[in-house]
Amino acid sequence: MSVTENLEEVERRICAACERAGRDRSEVTLIAVSKTKPIEMIEEAVDAGIRIFGENKVQELVQKHDEMEDGLEWHMIGHLQTNKVKMLPGRTKMIHSVDSLHLAEEIDKQYAKHGEIAHVLIEVNMAGEESKFGLAPQDVESFLDEIAKFANIYVHGLMTIAPFVEDANENRKIFADLKKLLIDMRRKNNDNIDMRELSMGMTGDYEVAIEEGATFVRVGTGIFGARNYQKG
Ligand SMILES: *Cc1c(COP(=O)(O)O)cnc(C)c1O
Repeated sequence: MSVTENLEEVERRICAACERAGRDRSEVTLIAVSKTKPIEMIEEAVDAGIRIFGENKVQELVQKHDEMEDGLEWHMIGHLQTNKVKMLPGRTKMIHSVDSLHLAEEIDKQYAKHGEIAHVLIEVNMAGEESKFGLAPQDVESFLDEIAKFANIYVHGLMTIAPFVEDANENRKIFADLKKLLIDMRRKNNDNIDMRELSMGMTGDYEVAIEEGATFVRVGTGIFGARNYQKG
């Protein structure tokens, strides 16, 4: 299947999930996760109408951003090392993976230098998997209190990477719990926090995530096909 055909299928499934959940299609933003995939495939997605891409490595995001046309949105969805943050201002629409104060501090500093606001989500490790990054759910509230002091950071919501499961329904509770946490955190009314966005759901489980309230779904394999990490 071509990228164009895959996108039609993903779009059809997003619409069906929205319909099942009684949600409007406009409430869900599809991020096409293009990591490891060549420019030609990204161009095919652009030709099919996609404008929003996700990358999990800073160098790759920078390279693709700089090579592709203006008017596309690049979202940083992967674990972020502090020494790479300086590459992101001017290139990144949203950082989905803020998971430490140390990182937030560096983001604030680098964006301040550019006179820009960093739009971010807080990554939460809902299943407590040791292999994954993200705050424990019970630490999110105090983290938000701390992040309120960073004038160049604006927090829009929460992100999670759910476990890899055979049956997407196994992740339903994780998505529902992230939504509960988001609603709980809405009572924080700091000037730089507006908890609205839920970045959850990947190729294996984005339909369930939409049913449970996702506002961003991050779909890679379902659009671009399987990744071959050996070739990079
Ligand atoms: C790679 C990646 C995705 C997309 O995964 P697929 O299963 O290929 O859809 C989504 N989110 C993050 C953070 C990723 O690193």
